[in-house]
Amino acid sequence: MSRLKDRVAIVTGASKGIGAEIARRLAAEGAKVVVNYASGKRDAETVVAAIEAAGGEALAVGADVTNRDQVESLVKAAIDYFGRLDIVVNNAGIYQFAKIEETTEALYRQQFDINVLGPLLVAGAAAPHLGKGGSIINISSNVTRVLPAESAVYTGTKGAIDAITGVLSRELGPRGIRVNAVSPGLVETEGTHAAGAVGSDFQAWNEARTPLGRIGQVQDIAPIVAFLASDDAGWVTGEVILGSGGMR
Ligand code: NAP
Repeated sequence: MSRLKDRVAIVTGASKGIGAEIARRLAAEGAKVVVNYASGKRDAETVVAAIEAAGGEALAVGADVTNRDQVESLVKAAIDYFGRLDIVVNNAGIYQFAKIEETTEALYRQQFDINVLGPLLVAGAAAPHLGKGGSIINISSNVTRVLPAESAVYTGTKGAIDAITGVLSRELGPRGIRVNAVSPGLVETEGTHAAGAVGSDFQAWNEARTPLGRIGQVQDIAPIVAFLASDDAGWVTGEVILGSGGMR
């Protein structure tokens, strides 16, 4: 499939997990992909190598999405190396559940900085370079529908993302730029393994509430993002699409 041929994409947090698979999928559909990482340079280079081995083009670029200068350098790298920018996937994010009594300023600031400020800075730096047909896709979460106990901060960040998605669809729509979000349910990734979610009671809790009866894999999410990035979704903007096996 080459519906993203000649498009250039930035995927934030693409060294691991959902972001890595989004980068591989966009490249497999013909896009040239900037694989952003924060600490995982080697992992990002592995993603780039896999894309190149499959005949695609990619570039690993380190940038902390909470740092405006680094975000501007990330966007500049895409323009300098590939000559244009069409698709931005705001995937970089962290999750840490905590009881409300144990919620600290640090827990709040870290999650809101990466999950909300990050996408705002990236969208702001990218928007001037996105022309008609441009697409911004924010990775939200089905927690905004499920509202799990002990997730007030994380769920708050993703609620903000859903609202920001709607606002930016109105703000950038007149320039022909579409803005949508994808909301995964629990997905098996490096991050959810490290958090102890995979194989836990939380996984069983999710499976019991998921009509399709399992948790997600990264390959369940990336095709939804590729669709939203493509002209096939040319009449879709301001949407938050659940990719959760029906869990809501
Ligand atoms: P993951 O496996 O933990 O990977 C996180 C990625 O984000 C890594 O590539 C990491 O980069 C990057 N990152 C973290 N902080 C960053 C920063 N300041 N600047 C740039 N990149 C940064 O995560 P995941 O499970 O794939 O989740 C990805 C996204 O999906 C997140 O937004 C998450 O909220 C959302 N989501 C996940 C699930 C799930 O169950 N997995 C469900 C719903 C929504 P380095 O490793 O290079 O530092």
